Amino acid sequence: MKPKSAAPGWVADGVGMVDTGGYGQSHTVACYVVKGERSAALVDVGYSPNWRQTADGLAGLGIAREKVEYIFLTHVHLDHAGAAWEASREFPNARIVVHEKGIRHLIDPSKLVGATRAGFGDQSAHVGDMRAVQPERIWPAREERYDLGRRSVEPIFTPGHMPGHMSLVTDDGVLFAGDAVCVKHGGLGLIPAGSPPVYDVRGAVKSVERLEEAKPTVTFAPHFGQYPQTWRELEHHKDAIQSWEGIIASKVNEGLDHGRICAEMRRHLLQEAEMKESDLDGYSSEVLLGRLLGMTVEGYMGYLLAPRP
Ligand SMILES: [Zn+2]
Repeated sequence: MKPKSAAPGWVADGVGMVDTGGYGQSHTVACYVVKGERSAALVDVGYSPNWRQTADGLAGLGIAREKVEYIFLTHVHLDHAGAAWEASREFPNARIVVHEKGIRHLIDPSKLVGATRAGFGDQSAHVGDMRAVQPERIWPAREERYDLGRRSVEPIFTPGHMPGHMSLVTDDGVLFAGDAVCVKHGGLGLIPAGSPPVYDVRGAVKSVERLEEAKPTVTFAPHFGQYPQTWRELEHHKDAIQSWEGIIASKVNEGLDHGRICAEMRRHLLQEAEMKESDLDGYSSEVLLGRLLGMTVEGYMGYLLAPRP
């Protein structure tokens, strides 16, 4: 069955978005393309099972295979980098650019794939497989301008969601935040992109502040889409990351376990959005407020319960 997804399109000057149809659902996992005069760059490539659809989306935008010079991976989680091995074959001239901490996972993804599939349990078919990328195709990211011909893209290291996480900003202020910003889907409020075992909350807040300093004019998120009025929007994301810490800390102090805290956060999100359980679609109910919320809470608990120096 072909997964549902929004049509690919040009969402800003020389910036294209492809809905990868992650989890068999539209508006869950996006990847982006930036076009310069000489070449193009991709930002993330999505899960492996969705690669054919993603590649077709890129072709539909008129991106020629040999023109892709860089494939930037914001980080190595499978919803961003799972299809990197397929993308490296599809785009033979592209350098795969990733934070140096992620390189070993691209060369040997077995640990990452095992942990991800375990985390998703009976839903792990969505995650699929990830095969090794040839080491000679991989380049460690540097915080410098990557030129595409009258357009450039620059990584900004934004640890928090994971240590080897980066965002990217173009020379004209288009920000691809990756999971440095929260998740937003289906009418629900912001859900911080915490991840197990430890979500570095302080690092995540500092990273959003670094993005604010870059003064972006528009922000694109992988999960999902465009955030206008970027400065205020980034403040909302920072507030959400911090307020979740406070709420989860109080529940940990009350002695609630992971399952109870997830149930309470689920209730909190529904209440905040003035929604009922019956308003949720299957993806929101089972994946977003199920597995993914569980991972976010686990990451916060790991952070709160970790010994402080
Ligand atoms: Zn991630």
